[in-house]
Amino acid sequence: MTEEFIHEPRVAYFSMEIALRSEIPTYSGGLGILAGDAVRTAADFGYPFVGVSLVSRAGYFRQRIDEHGRQVETPAPWDPAKWARLLNAKVAVMIEDRPVWIGAWLYVVEGPLGGRQPVLLLDTQFEENHPEDREITHYLYGGDDLYRLKQEIVLGIGGARLLHALGFMVKAYHMNEGHSALLGLELLRRYSYAPGDLQAGESEYDMPRVRALCRFTTHTPLEAGHDHFSYDLVARAFGRDGQPDSFVDLATLKKLAGEESLNMTRLALNLSEFVNGVAERHAQISQKMYPGYHLHAITNGVHPFTWVTHEFRKLYDRYLPGWCHEPELLLRAEDFISDDAVWDAHMAAKRALIAKVAAEGGPALDPHRPILGFARRMTAYKRPDLLFTDIGRFRAIAAKYPFQIVLAGKAHPHDERGKQLIAELIRAARDLGDAVPTVFLADYDMDLARLLVSGADVWLNTPLPPMEASGTSGMKAALNGVPNLSVLDGWWVEGCIEGVTGWAIGAPDGGADDAAQSLYAKLEGVVLPLYYANAAQPGAWQRVMKGAISKNGSYFNSHRMMRRYATEAYVR
Ligand SMILES: *Cc1c(COP(=O)(O)O)cnc(C)c1O
Repeated sequence: MTEEFIHEPRVAYFSMEIALRSEIPTYSGGLGILAGDAVRTAADFGYPFVGVSLVSRAGYFRQRIDEHGRQVETPAPWDPAKWARLLNAKVAVMIEDRPVWIGAWLYVVEGPLGGRQPVLLLDTQFEENHPEDREITHYLYGGDDLYRLKQEIVLGIGGARLLHALGFMVKAYHMNEGHSALLGLELLRRYSYAPGDLQAGESEYDMPRVRALCRFTTHTPLEAGHDHFSYDLVARAFGRDGQPDSFVDLATLKKLAGEESLNMTRLALNLSEFVNGVAERHAQISQKMYPGYHLHAITNGVHPFTWVTHEFRKLYDRYLPGWCHEPELLLRAEDFISDDAVWDAHMAAKRALIAKVAAEGGPALDPHRPILGFARRMTAYKRPDLLFTDIGRFRAIAAKYPFQIVLAGKAHPHDERGKQLIAELIRAARDLGDAVPTVFLADYDMDLARLLVSGADVWLNTPLPPMEASGTSGMKAALNGVPNLSVLDGWWVEGCIEGVTGWAIGAPDGGADDAAQSLYAKLEGVVLPLYYANAAQPGAWQRVMKGAISKNGSYFNSHRMMRRYATEAYVR
């Protein structure tokens, strides 16, 4: 079943989560979207690639909102047999002194241009495993630290071993975030010298060889955001009195991963020849956090075909044939596509969103009034409540320039603040009533994201700098001709051309109050008047829509991103 994929060397892309399609709930947010878009783009290029992730049989979760506006989580189990094929190979890894057998489901990504690339979804649910071990690959970001460490052993060590057992030739191992960094230990074990062959003082591990094989992309601009495990916990998971000595000795491990605790980011940094952040600003911040390493910047991008709504696909196919493979062609949208054609495609997308809101029991939205869209993981640093900081001011703006709001996003089940934020948003929506029709759509996923980023008129993002490493939903909006109104952080530092591709909120490092006031000032003074001026100055709003497509869509796509990985990170 893997014959098609094992005849040439590939880049193995390891990620704790991966967004393959809405029906497969093995992702929680941007990290998984990025992994999915990377494989989809490799399929378009015919670039030899293999994704490695966990099967996450229990899914992330389905979100419902109860009558008090609280998020209610229900399991989202899925049946891998429906979408993927179980491969006939297993490898074992010792965890807590028991062998844990790891197999994989082969999911084949089929790109719109006919390309195919394999993804292995690792699974431990086998009869021969201890009942507890069968659940290691069930819950995405679930359980305690020990559970997480076991998952990371399965992902990193199990994944690398299984690729080898299946006959994959791997020319580079790419770690999408530090969760998979233990794969480096498996490679050190594989590329070590017999003690008899060593001169005194020589390392028993072929470190240069391992480093030449590994690439690492970091995603979190805060040290506390990175996984780390106490060595007691490591001892427990690896068994054998705490020596992960089937891999490397503890002294070497501490040298690579930190003396105090096993820091997955440190481990990945020390074992990778190429390391990058996911936007220019994020790479600079990461560089300060990790002096002594060279941090490259490869700004994220999104997969054009996946994130462009049906109406815009048709439009681009007609005026910019080939855009799917060569999204640079979108540069020409400004000159080659008429204002009316862009507007009509957008209105079709907007009506689809309005219909979805109605179907979910939300308010009847008016297609002639602007919709502000905001959807992302609901967590404190994303500041979803910023928009409602000063309700009086907010109402006054809406009285002058009526607008509507569509919101969505899941909070991690353990993120109390995130859940509270959802409740606050829903309360604000109720209080606003008809003054500003506002709806929170439950169960944000890929399909809902596509509807939202294309059906909104303005895409809003209000993170607390410098916490947004990149952000990608705004890139999806741009591809659909939707301008961003966003705090200057992450990709928007590069993407914002004021008044041309969208608008900036606040000074780059402004506080919350400043950001809220700046947001209101921009809405009231610039964005909403421009939207409503369209009757008097036809084409003014469409010019910004086309600016977003041609200046952001042509650049912030995964084809540009993957060409950079291929030419700078993978070929070395
Ligand atoms: C694109 C996407 C994200 C990431 O969006 P950000 O702007 O980076 O927060 C998260 N979840 C889903 C379902 C998405 O489609």
